[in-house]
Amino acid sequence: MNPVAQAQAERHTHQELLFPFLDLCAQFEEIRAEVMSAVQKVFDTQQFILGPDVQQLESEVAEMLGCGYAIGCASGSDALLLALMALGIGEGDEVITTPFTFVATAGSIARLGARPVFVDIEPGTYNLNPGQIEAAITSRTKAIMPVHLFGLVADMEEITAVARSHGLAVIEDAAQAMGAGCRHGLAGTLGDIGCFSFFPSKNLGGAGDGGMVTTNDLELANRLKMLRAHGSDTKYHYGILGLNSRLDTLQAAVLRVKLRHLHAWTSARRQHASCYHLLFAQAGLEESVQLPVEPPHSFHVYNQFVIRAQGRDPLREHLLRAGIPTEIYYPLPLHLQPAFATLGFKPGDLAQSESASREVLALPIFPELAEAQQQTVVAAISEFFKKE
Ligand SMILES: *Cc1c(COP(=O)(O)O)cnc(C)c1O
Repeated sequence: MNPVAQAQAERHTHQELLFPFLDLCAQFEEIRAEVMSAVQKVFDTQQFILGPDVQQLESEVAEMLGCGYAIGCASGSDALLLALMALGIGEGDEVITTPFTFVATAGSIARLGARPVFVDIEPGTYNLNPGQIEAAITSRTKAIMPVHLFGLVADMEEITAVARSHGLAVIEDAAQAMGAGCRHGLAGTLGDIGCFSFFPSKNLGGAGDGGMVTTNDLELANRLKMLRAHGSDTKYHYGILGLNSRLDTLQAAVLRVKLRHLHAWTSARRQHASCYHLLFAQAGLEESVQLPVEPPHSFHVYNQFVIRAQGRDPLREHLLRAGIPTEIYYPLPLHLQPAFATLGFKPGDLAQSESASREVLALPIFPELAEAQQQTVVAAISEFFKKE
């Protein structure tokens, strides 16, 4: 379907969806009183900028992740920008990353005048293929930026080994991976700097934009703190050039409430993932549909539950007609986006990312999703493949 027809179809069927792709209203009903009282407290103190809730959230997240320092900032995109700035990356530098991600990953690199060097993904995990990193390293390479896509940690053992042997920094884009882990620890603590987003659709989502950077390095932590506040260490004294990227006290207050529920919400997401696996197996769909993988020792937090199928577009149309919401993350890999045209990539250059873009389909997986809804989703998918 062309994009215009698709948009029309979506608009046409919007009213007829059986349930939303992500039901934030259901989540809010559960925590309304807690959130409203936390927000009320911030208004009572009128400390909107870097109030006590910000420091408290920072220490609670650092403690939960098991890392030295967590520093709040204005968004996940800014977290990436601040991480690169703290490491002194800019004009003429190269950073190796994946093209199969949200635009901010590579956008942050290019924004600072550095060059994103795209390396292809593994077809099973959709994460950066560590076996292809070495060949992309040049004398200008400064860092590797893996993304823990959909809530599954990238192969950090291999990635940090390559980085160490070439003296490169590792910046984790953990925007979708709060609480995700592998045998070496939790996402955001496995490289030099971890970057998180509190965008409402993330596993820990605020009431608007927000983000956080994490590190075990005191010197980096101090620089990150300065960078998020115009580069100032003491009032009206600027040691370095920074930006205005603080986390609002109101956001921190809301996030502290939600952090208390994160563990239960993650368990619910993981339970829904198991339920999908069971339902797909019972429907005999293993041949038609590739399900998400969770490699040994990984702890997937399922920010998205992404299946893969040939004929993804007609499948999505069929589901839309049946009132079932789905999304495509991501329909065009970054190396083929007009914004990155100057990098000189052409179709076919990163084949795994390109075929993933044609075949992936995200199914609803929010914590409040009911088993009956999952049954409806899988029954509709089953019906599609029986017709074929
Ligand atoms: C959401 C996201 C970001 C950006 O976070 P914002 O808070 O929206 O700026 C960056 N990278 C990935 C992989 C994301 O999913």
